[in-house]
Amino acid sequence: MRFDHLKSIKLISECPVCHEKQADPKIQFLDEHPVGHLLYVQCQNCASRLVVLVSFAAEAVSLLGVLTDLAGEEIGKFSERGPISADDALELHDALRRKDFVKNI
Ligand SMILES: [Zn+2]
Repeated sequence: MRFDHLKSIKLISECPVCHEKQADPKIQFLDEHPVGHLLYVQCQNCASRLVVLVSFAAEAVSLLGVLTDLAGEEIGKFSERGPISADDALELHDALRRKDFVKNI
């Protein structure tokens, strides 16, 4: 299913934060995955932002949404980065122990 068709479907009708009805929510297509389409939705009332995975199977549509404080462009950047490895976690742990950590940010 193309993104144009996704926009025409009124799947996301109410903001989960302010509960305002969304007549025309700001929806941005982020990516297409084998399991579905990744969308970025911003409430026109309270500016809350959601990342939503829309999956289609047979005659069913499922949505999985997560609130975020990231902008749509930032989500794309992190999506391309890949998963966090054990080495990444150890590197961060070591960096947090250094007294000059804040100065080097
Ligand atoms: Zn809202």
